[in-house]
Amino acid sequence: MRGKSDDLLNIPRIGKSAKADFENLGIRTTTDLISLMPRDYEDRREERRLSSLSVGNTTIYCRIRIRKKDYIPLKKGRTLKISATDDDGSTIELYCFNRDYLDKTVQINDEYYITATVSKERGVYRSGAFEIKKRAEELGFGRILPVYPLSGKLTQKAVRAAVDYALNSLSPIEDELPYDFYERLNLMHHALAYNRLHHPHSMIEVSLAKRTLAFTELFYLELENSRAHHHERKKNSVITPLEKKLIKELPFSLTGDQKTVLDEIRADLDSSEPMSRLLEGDVGSGKTLVAWISALHEISKGAQVAFMAPTELLAKQHAENAAVLLAPLGIRLCYLTGAISQKGRALLLEALKNGEVDLAIGTHALFTEDVSFKNLRYVIIDEQHRFGVEQRNMLMQKAKDPNVLNMTATPIPRSLALTLFSNMDLSVIRTKPNGRLPITTYLVSEKKRASMFSSIEVEFKRGHQAYFVYPRIEEDEEGGIKAVERMYEELKDIYPGYKSMMVHSRLKDDEKIDILNRFRDGEYTYLVATSVIEVGIDIPNATCMVIEHADRFGLAALHQLRGRVGRSSLPSYCFLVYSDGISDDAKERLRVMKSTNDGFLIAEKDLEIRGPGDISGLRQSGFFRLKFASLVDDTDLIAQAKEEAEKIAETDRGLIKAKNAVLRKHIKGNIF
Ligand code: ADP
Ligand code: MG
Repeated sequence: MRGKSDDLLNIPRIGKSAKADFENLGIRTTTDLISLMPRDYEDRREERRLSSLSVGNTTIYCRIRIRKKDYIPLKKGRTLKISATDDDGSTIELYCFNRDYLDKTVQINDEYYITATVSKERGVYRSGAFEIKKRAEELGFGRILPVYPLSGKLTQKAVRAAVDYALNSLSPIEDELPYDFYERLNLMHHALAYNRLHHPHSMIEVSLAKRTLAFTELFYLELENSRAHHHERKKNSVITPLEKKLIKELPFSLTGDQKTVLDEIRADLDSSEPMSRLLEGDVGSGKTLVAWISALHEISKGAQVAFMAPTELLAKQHAENAAVLLAPLGIRLCYLTGAISQKGRALLLEALKNGEVDLAIGTHALFTEDVSFKNLRYVIIDEQHRFGVEQRNMLMQKAKDPNVLNMTATPIPRSLALTLFSNMDLSVIRTKPNGRLPITTYLVSEKKRASMFSSIEVEFKRGHQAYFVYPRIEEDEEGGIKAVERMYEELKDIYPGYKSMMVHSRLKDDEKIDILNRFRDGEYTYLVATSVIEVGIDIPNATCMVIEHADRFGLAALHQLRGRVGRSSLPSYCFLVYSDGISDDAKERLRVMKSTNDGFLIAEKDLEIRGPGDISGLRQSGFFRLKFASLVDDTDLIAQAKEEAEKIAETDRGLIKAKNAVLRKHIKGNIF
């Protein structure tokens, strides 16, 4: 790590509340602060005139002369108004809300400098948000100022001061790359790069600094990657009798991808290094089954396994699924969520601790403080991107170097996945189980809804079921957007004689579970829902998915929702209803949905349309570790970083050469 990195509370003027605001920005230490990428820069090198203010550009920094000061009445009290002119003679009125003290410090006929957010009304410029100073430097004139992302009560001024403090306290900042890199690859030394990121003299310096920091970031990812992929793995792990038994009893055979992935996982589980693997596969591709079989592999060795799902709803479904498949094999299961009664909980905890449970299924409640395992060796995380870093860390404390299998139904293009998750190995299930028909997708304009409703009734008559999804629970004030509550009533008129139910996020978890179970048992013909049904629900008899206002959903959400149908050998249908006048991006999304069922292709399109930061909340997840580099724009830099990393992994894998000492040091401080 660079220098000594400090807690933020040691920085002057940062208290508990500012610390929390910084944490929301992902900043915990002084080192994080100097890596805080400005979201923009304000070029204050040249003074401006009020008349240069253009629409959409409302911040101005200029020199003014004070003409008049008065107090004007407000609804409550009064405020000081300062009128001034710039060199062109344009007038600006400054409203000094709660700043009467300016009456003393600002003198008529004197010159001052201001930065202000200005609006123009009837030829007069006005501002209520401004800073006024006697000397230009006090406002950063003549400089390019960084503009940071903010959170809570943080101000630009406070963040700038904190960053500057961090820069000073960490200096001298050491190089983070071997010395021969800098000149050869045209990079700035790191001390300079961090300095210029925050205090550039020109925009060219900004881009050089960013390039250096982005390269560094990518290089380390690629370096871990190249080194990690040289792990030795035991080949030809055996399939244990328990696994064989389960596989034999399935009413179908495993797909080729499932077999391959299982081989990869078994090899990891049998190797001496803990597994860290990401299993990607579209909804319905059969990941969960892979998880159960691999769990049996560990249980056969006498180990305990934990399976963690993001919601109670999913955890429950998995637990029921496991009860059917695994309990007959003599596997001792337990189901643990936050909703379990104190008494029941105490018993479960006891059983886990004594090793009387082989497989524990639950939400993050599995990993709260009071839970302990006898011999937890393998942790499976369903929908890993929905868990925060904190939750993952809690889990790590329950076992010593457990094997971890992260599963995600968010198909991430391979190149992106390798870079993003370089600390994990990647397994992909790409093919769907045999016998699945592709889902037919129709784009339906508002005007054609009636005929859509009647074609769905044909499915009802065949005994099949449907989901109707709406963006919101209640009508908004304008009433433009159809909502679950109203459509629940309307659909009753459209489909008299069919039973239905509503599900949305306002219901309690056990209510949702109950409704879904009844739906699965055929008690209701259709469900009217918000996107709560997005992840993991498995009801094979549901063949129709209707998404109204489909233009309001992102590609990832649409794909996940559509994945609720097509879960059997029945033909199934997805209807995406759109309104007139939707944006070009929305049109493009709907076209993509119609043209393919392939989640990976959809993810690639999503990447094209929106950029990687947006893929289904990856950025929030804490897995998205890139601060400086862009996986879309920096493709050349990625290639270069990869090349350099591979060279080092080949020539000095142990990083023992003197010139690579810096790498060793940096990697050590960054164990993931
Ligand atoms: P995922 O977790 O990837 O969304 P699941 O494991 O829930 O997918 O599988 C979806 C459905 O497909 C389940 O009902 C499961 O029993 C079934 N399934 C899994 N593997 C196969 C297979 N090889 N052939 C047929 N059906 C399968
Ligand atoms: Mg699943």
